[in-house]
Amino acid sequence: AKFKEGLEKTRSSFTESLNELVSRYRKVDEEFFEELEEILITADVGVQTVMDLIDELKMEVKRRNIQEPKEVRAAISEKLVEIYQGEDGAPTDLNIEDGRLNIVLFVGVNGVGKTTTIGKLAHRLKEEGKSVLLAAGDTFRAGAIEQLEVWGDRVGVDVIKQSAGSDPAAVVYDAIQAARSRKVDVLLCDTAGRLQNKMNLMKELEKVKRVIEREIPGAPHEVLLVLDATTGQNAMSQARQFSEATNVTGIALTKLDGTAKGGIVLAIRNELNIPVKLVGLGEKMDDLEKFDAEKYVYGLFA
Ligand code: GDP
Repeated sequence: AKFKEGLEKTRSSFTESLNELVSRYRKVDEEFFEELEEILITADVGVQTVMDLIDELKMEVKRRNIQEPKEVRAAISEKLVEIYQGEDGAPTDLNIEDGRLNIVLFVGVNGVGKTTTIGKLAHRLKEEGKSVLLAAGDTFRAGAIEQLEVWGDRVGVDVIKQSAGSDPAAVVYDAIQAARSRKVDVLLCDTAGRLQNKMNLMKELEKVKRVIEREIPGAPHEVLLVLDATTGQNAMSQARQFSEATNVTGIALTKLDGTAKGGIVLAIRNELNIPVKLVGLGEKMDDLEKFDAEKYVYGLFA
C-alpha cells in the first residue's frame, strides 16, 4: 500500500496519459507508439530505455497479433518488469548476513537524502532485530554530524563521531573497532557529499573504502549510492560519476513520493545496470521500502 501511495504523483500523471492514449486510439500503429514514447520519456524512463521498451513492445504486438491498444497496456507492464529484472533477476536484497559485522557505505551528493536514508535504514534493521551503529563520516559539511545524531537519537542507535574536519577514514576506523567490541550486526557509514571538488571527494571515498577493506575482508558489503528521484537526469549523471569512481553495489532512490518522474528507476537499472535496492517514499522514519520491481510497476498501473 505504501508503494502505491508513494508513487501517487508518478501514477497520476503517467497512468492518466496512458489511459487517455489507449482510449483515443482505435488501432496500434506507428503514431500510437510515437505518443507512447513521449509519455515514457516525460516520466523520465530515459531515452535508451524507452527505445528498448518500444522495440520489445513492437515485437510483442506482432508476435501476439495485438490489435487493440488496451491490450498493449498489459504488455507494457509485463515488459517493464522484465526490463527491470533483466537476465540476472536484479537482486534487490541488501547483502546483509547474520553472524558477521556487515558494513554499508553510503555515498552521494549533499541534499539527496543520505542522512535521512541512513536513519530510516537503521530503524528498519532495528525492527528486524539487528543491532546497528552509525559512523559520522561526513566531517566536512557543517551540521552533518549533528544531523546524524538527531537520527541516531530518534531511532535509538549510537553514533561514532570525531570533531568536524577530522579524517573520515579515521572516524570509520574507530567505528569499526567500536562495532567489533560491541558485537554489532550492521555498521552504516555516512560520507561527505560535496561535489565542488570532485577529485578530492572521490579520493576521500577511496581512502575510507580502503580502511574498511583492510579491517574486514569482503567489506564493504554494500556501497549504496543515494540519488534524489526528483532531479531526474541529474541523478543519472551522478550515478555515472560515482560508479566510475567506486564500485557502487546498489541505489537508494529518495523522494520518489515527490516526483511524477518515477521512471528514473528503470533508466538506472537499464542504462547503468545498478539495481535500485531501497526507495524513499517520504520524510518519516517508516518511509523507506525495499525496492520490488513488480510492486513498483503494478503501483504505476494500478
Ligand atoms: P543529505 O544532505 O543527503 O544528508 O540529505 P538529508 O537527509 O538531509 O535530506 C534532505 C531533505 O530531503 C530533508 O528535508 C529530508 O527530509 C528530505 N528527504 C529525504 N528523503 C526523502 C524522501 O524519501 N521523501 C521526501 N519527500 N523527502 C525526503
